[in-house]
This record gives sequence, structure tokens and C-alpha cells, in this order.
Amino acid sequence: MHFFDYKGKNFYAEGVPVEKIIKEVGTPVYIYSHKTLTRHFQAYDQAFAAVPHLVCYSIKANSNIAVLKTFAEEGSGFDIVSGGELFRASKAGADPRKIVFSGVGKREDEIEYALKSNILMFNVESPQELRAIDKIAKRLKKKAGISIRVNPNVDPKTHPYISTGLKKNKFGIETEDAFREYVYAKNSLKNVVPMGIDCHIGSQITQLTPFVDALKKTTDLLARLRAEGLDIKYIDMGGGLGITYDKEEPPHPSKYGEAVMKGTKGLGVTLIFEPGRSMVGNAGILATRVVYIKQGTEKNFVIVDAAMNDLARPSLYGSYHAIKAVKANSKNEITADVVGPICESGDFLAKDRIIPEVKAGDALAVMSAGAYGFSMSSNYNTRPRAAEVLVRGKEFFVVRKRENLKDLIRGEELVPAVKKAAKAVRKGAKK
Ligand SMILES: *Cc1c(COP(=O)(O)O)cnc(C)c1O
Repeated sequence: MHFFDYKGKNFYAEGVPVEKIIKEVGTPVYIYSHKTLTRHFQAYDQAFAAVPHLVCYSIKANSNIAVLKTFAEEGSGFDIVSGGELFRASKAGADPRKIVFSGVGKREDEIEYALKSNILMFNVESPQELRAIDKIAKRLKKKAGISIRVNPNVDPKTHPYISTGLKKNKFGIETEDAFREYVYAKNSLKNVVPMGIDCHIGSQITQLTPFVDALKKTTDLLARLRAEGLDIKYIDMGGGLGITYDKEEPPHPSKYGEAVMKGTKGLGVTLIFEPGRSMVGNAGILATRVVYIKQGTEKNFVIVDAAMNDLARPSLYGSYHAIKAVKANSKNEITADVVGPICESGDFLAKDRIIPEVKAGDALAVMSAGAYGFSMSSNYNTRPRAAEVLVRGKEFFVVRKRENLKDLIRGEELVPAVKKAAKAVRKGAKK
């Protein structure tokens, strides 16, 4: 469900014509719908209304601070995976007591920053990390709330790059080892407080079974830990619920909610969720203009001004994004590759796709680009990163300016000319 649609021939983001935004802001531009964001948060919140729960939006899916603030105002917590994301969350007015910190490689400075910010808990991903958190917390005279991220060895049946809960993945700790670590933490580590179990098995998951299987392993572990006297209050189910890019039919949060509540009934736990994609994916589009049409002997190419540096998903995972005309002027269709200007054959937004017939200067909307779109963008080919716009009703706000040429070399320095350096060496040799 989202609020991007045609009114007559014009494609709208809520109450604003997309053409109007791109006339003022230029292309490529990411456009987010405020109403879609809040609706998605509420879908989760309502799905679990019957039980204690905390929705921690996973910042890495879309980390613009205006998006984060939209969720914070709804009462959302946040799942962070770096000190940088913690900084963003604080800029967006997040409540630190609703922040959980995931990730396999938390550095000492990041752990310290999170402890000083009084976040709710760390999702610990290795025995060494557990000890590091204890040590740093001790130095700061703090107690660190922790969950261990359990690797349940469940196949989420998604793209291999975004599957995380298999033994061969780098994430989490296998169940038996996790059990041992919990008991060790309780008995021997004075500055960590085990309070939850965490489990995130992957992304763009379109079936309930993998979640149910992972939950079963989690609640089995919970029972064993409670029998050992550990006071486990939280079950964190991670994120991973899929969205519709093409013809996928992922379960609605309410169905997911039913399954999870059934699996945790009577346990007296607070449920935590870390949804990313399902909160923002369909709440954003990438608008781009056609630069040239090129007819090859085998293929048509629609060359646009957005590229793999703006939206990496098609190149990275072969992902599908629907493409629509911003002005539906033509009833004719063509089959084409929609490609960007980058010097890589992997730079495409769509392959062999039937799209409305377009000409140079026309604008296209790349749909479902709100998750892992801008947040994965880069400056490859020294391209300024796109602007970001948030639409709310009939208004729109530029929530990130388009980068300019100066931004592109910010922080770079020239080194002294080689001649001078050579002279200095000669001087040194005389002495
Ligand atoms: C990426 C990630 C999420 C969000 O995943 P989605 O598939 O976007 O919902 C949640 N938790 C952790 C630990 C993650 O790494």
C-alpha cells in the first residue's frame, strides 16, 4: 500500500505532481511519501497492539533524518548498525531507550558512544564482542543491556546476499554456543545484563514459515535460559518482511503478527521488531529523466540520468523495480533496457522491460526505491548523489540537497609537488 498514483495522465506523490517536484529540484531525485511511512509504522504497531512490543525501524534501509523523525514522532524505536546511525537517530530526536544496536563489527568507540547514549541494548554477535562490551561498560561504570543474536540455521528462501540466518553466514552465534555465552555472562561478566534473545534471519522474506521456524528455536532457548535463572524479557525477531516489487505476495504485518503472537503466547515477553524494507520500500520512488534513446541492432536502450550509483539494487541483486512514466502521454509500449550513464555494463535499472514509449526529456518513476536506495548510493563515476524530497499531503520538502561539485571533493587534499619533495630529499642527503 502506497500513495503514488496517476491522476489523469500525471503521476502524483500524495497530493503533489511528480513533474512539479522534478521541475524545481531536478533529477535524479528520491521522493518519499510521509503518509505511506506513517501507515507502514501503524500497520506494525497495530499488528502487535495486543501485546507489549517495540518497533525499532532499521535505519540502514533509509537513513535520511527526516524519515527517521517521521518514525520517531509515531513512537518508533530504532535498530542501528553503526555509530553513524546512532548519530542520525539522535539528530532525529529518537528516544535512546528504544534503540538496539546490531552488527558483527562494533568498534570500541561505537560501543562507548552507545553506552554513553544509554541505548536499550546491544545485539551481540560474537563471544569476543560480549567481552569487549563488558570491559568498556566496566570502564564507564555502566551496565550494558544485551541480547545475543542467535543464528538459528533457518533458510529464509531469499537472495543469498541477504540471507543471514544460516550457519555459513557471518551473523549471530549458533544456538548451543549462545546458550553457553548467556550462562557465562550471567555468572562471570558483571557489567552486561542479558535481557533478550535476538534473531534476524534475512531480508525480503515472502513466507511466514522461516520466521515461525526461527521463533520456535528462539523460544526453546528462552525456556532453557529461564531454567538457568536468566531473566530474559525481550524477544527480538529482527526485520526481514518482504515487499511487493513485482509479483511477490509477502504476508501483511497483521498475518506475521498473528503467527508471532501465537508462538510467544504466555511467555510474558516484550516483542521487538526491526523492520526496514517493509517500512520504507514502497514509500519511495526514484524519479529520473531520459537523456537519450539509443536503438541498437539487438536492443533498445533508454539512457536515463539515474544510475547504479543512485540505485544499486538491480546491479547488485538483479532486482526488479517497476518503471512508470511520470506523464502518461503515450499508449504505445517498447521493450528496452533502462540504463544509466556509468561506465559499467552492470549499470542498469531494468533489462528487457516493456515500458511506455518515451523520448528524450521525458521523466520516469522507478518504483519501490525507498529501501536500500539512497542509503546504498555512492559517488562512483564522480556523480553527485541525488536530492531527497519528502512529500506530505500537498506540500513537499527537500530533505537532502543534491550534492554539488564541491561536495564531491570535500576532504580531499593535493600533495606537495613532486619537484619540491625531491629537493627536500637532496637536502636531507647532504646533512
Ligand atoms: C538489515 C537489518 C534489518 C532490516 O531488515 P529488512 O529486511 O530491511 O526489514 C533488521 N535487523 C538487522 C540486524 C539488520 O541487519
